[in-house]
Amino acid sequence: MEEPALVLKDAVVRYHRLTAVDGVSLELRRGETLGLVGESGCGKSSVARSIVGLQPLASGTLSVDGETVRAGTRRKAGDAQSRIQLLFQDPAASLSPRLTVKTLLAEPLKIRNVYTAERFAEIVALAESLGLGQQLLTRYPHQLSGGQARRVALVRALAANPSIIVADEPTAGLDISVQGELLNLLRSLRDRLGLSYLLISHNLNVVGRVTDRVAVMYLGQIVESGPTASLFREPAHPYTQALLSANLTLDPSRQRERIVLTGELPNPSNPPSGCRFHKRCPLAQPKCAADAPPLLAGTGARSVACHFPLVSAAPIPRQAIAG
Ligand code: SF4
Repeated sequence: MEEPALVLKDAVVRYHRLTAVDGVSLELRRGETLGLVGESGCGKSSVARSIVGLQPLASGTLSVDGETVRAGTRRKAGDAQSRIQLLFQDPAASLSPRLTVKTLLAEPLKIRNVYTAERFAEIVALAESLGLGQQLLTRYPHQLSGGQARRVALVRALAANPSIIVADEPTAGLDISVQGELLNLLRSLRDRLGLSYLLISHNLNVVGRVTDRVAVMYLGQIVESGPTASLFREPAHPYTQALLSANLTLDPSRQRERIVLTGELPNPSNPPSGCRFHKRCPLAQPKCAADAPPLLAGTGARSVACHFPLVSAAPIPRQAIAG
């Protein structure tokens, strides 16, 4: 079986006393798009930051193309993690306001000490093929539209020659038509360049449209994962069901009955006992407050962490890596 592009195993991320990510395992296969979803504050951006090396793992391991990056290490030029690029949620904030687009596009080549006129011409040609004409090269980030700024950030990421792109809310703030263009662009680049994507989003319409598999996070842990189509059609975890029911779709025939969760996301520095979702779960039973359900593999490449899953993606008794 082909080596996965990325394996995150038992990852723990801490900020002082707060454990933002608690034992998360993910596998990203080559050429696939894996979605990571969950409410704001569930730890998905911390997963992204640890994968790209902006936040060291307190424990756990990360492997990129079969090469293990030790827990707690920060990324260095040329190491396995440098094959991963992050597309930030706010691209304008990730582009220096004092540099022109031309300088911004040349920077990744200079950082890697591979700048030549020919290579830069290739990057400019790539930018043009993505709709960034020559006339934009002399502009500054504040003179770009939201869609243009995202494309500049994308070309900069590609100039670093990655095999994996972690995209954090890539369509946030864009109108629907620009969102569609960007998603089509990401998909065609993935196929053309053999990239793998980890896509982090709270927008389930986007995730449903572009991902092959999806993992659902709640309070620092993965609670469900599986192929996107089957998980969206028949969620097994009550939290996934509630998330999907709150998602507005343009197709009224696919709108589900809304399940309103009571209460806020609990404080991750003091998570509830047993199942972390039990205080908000409409199906909670006494066992749920006492015992934490492990993430177990079920049928159809699905995994779920629930004592009473909703559908027949019922767990079989063995541990599994999410997805
Ligand atoms: Fe709800 Fe219990 Fe399942 Fe947790 S384990 S999601 S509380 S039914």
